[in-house]
Amino acid sequence: MKTTFTVKTHKRSEMLDITSELRDIVARSGIKNGACLVYCPHTTAGITINENADPDVVHDLLTIMDTMVPWQNGYAHAEGNSAAHAKSSLMGCSAWVIIDEGQLVLGTWQSVFFCEFDGPRSRKVHVRVI
Ligand code: ZN
Repeated sequence: MKTTFTVKTHKRSEMLDITSELRDIVARSGIKNGACLVYCPHTTAGITINENADPDVVHDLLTIMDTMVPWQNGYAHAEGNSAAHAKSSLMGCSAWVIIDEGQLVLGTWQSVFFCEFDGPRSRKVHVRVI
């Protein structure tokens, strides 16, 4: 089963928890034991799994990315968003989550995040449940 949903971002850099959308998709799929592939078809965004409990973690991750990849650094790409492309590649554009007894197997403090690096935009997330 393949599903696509839209994520609306509101800042240049932002991490949005999409775990509840994924749980709904897994429930609708009827698949009890398998895996869920979450894929972002954008070159300036990403997907990652990290802590959902303390919002400072997400804040710090974005700060770390900004420190590693400054927005301006004499890049050649004419569109002016090379930093966002680099962050997308550093974060990666997909994640797999195991499905066990109809539930996503995530740690207590883990969520799946859509990572925006060149927003605000309307983005797509593709999900394949197998
Ligand atoms: Zn570009």
